[in-house]
Amino acid sequence: MQPFHKTRLAPTPSGFLHLGNAFSFILTAAIASKHGASILLRIDDLDRSRVKREYLADIFDTLTFLDIDWDEGPRTVNETLKSYSQHRRLALYKESISELNAKGFLFPCACSRKDLASAGLLGGCTGRCQTKEEPFALKLKECPERLAIHLYASGISYLPYPKSTSQFIVQKKDGLPSYHLASVVDDIHFGVDLVVRGKDLWDSSLAQVYLASLTHGLQPYTATTFFHHSLVTENGAKLSKSAGHTSIQHLRKKGLSKEAMYQQAGAFFGLQEKVSNLQEFTQVVHPMRIIGTE
Ligand SMILES: [Zn+2]
Repeated sequence: MQPFHKTRLAPTPSGFLHLGNAFSFILTAAIASKHGASILLRIDDLDRSRVKREYLADIFDTLTFLDIDWDEGPRTVNETLKSYSQHRRLALYKESISELNAKGFLFPCACSRKDLASAGLLGGCTGRCQTKEEPFALKLKECPERLAIHLYASGISYLPYPKSTSQFIVQKKDGLPSYHLASVVDDIHFGVDLVVRGKDLWDSSLAQVYLASLTHGLQPYTATTFFHHSLVTENGAKLSKSAGHTSIQHLRKKGLSKEAMYQQAGAFFGLQEKVSNLQEFTQVVHPMRIIGTE
């Protein structure tokens, strides 16, 4: 198997983790183990208004419950806030934003979501906003028609760029970097070369690879390999962190054991064998055979 250097678990502490998060952690840990990659725990806590201590604690509780270990990153809530918060890397994000701006790739936009919606736009700019008077975001001017991306199953693939993700935000109105920007900068900073994530982040992967291609310091990211897995849904809808009954906390209180959780994850990813822990899951999972991977 191709060796990878590092992958990451990148939860957002904006709610209690649900079954989908747990399955994604399990798959990421198994793939990392198969490829000899180390695991970074990177907690995406940029949006302070949504972060709560109990959500941070839930991340550590869940990983401990699943018996998933990581090689790098915080071990406690306090360590997260003190040493690993994304707010400690704001200077790094700023540096990339300044480079993009200096190269002329960005434009200011003060449009609100309401402005865009009433103009029938999903993103971009109405062209009528007043950036002299109002706080503005910085958005990417142009996106390509097609883009090369390294996919786990098919290697380098030249794919259409999603229209829904054109002219995306790089710096928000509050001055903080967007998720796309922070995610790429972090992955480069920590040396991540394998990203395992849900299919819902497909457009993000393309947006992030494109962003990296424009920025000198982030270019190694264009060689990052992506693995997109299916998502756990309930009646066809993506699980949300606010739907309490699928949260790991709730399921554990109802008596769900670690073994049962691994069995469920195995069944979800189409394994024929019964598995009850990470070692067994890793042994029998064939990442290339996982249905609906890419
Ligand atoms: Zn605008």
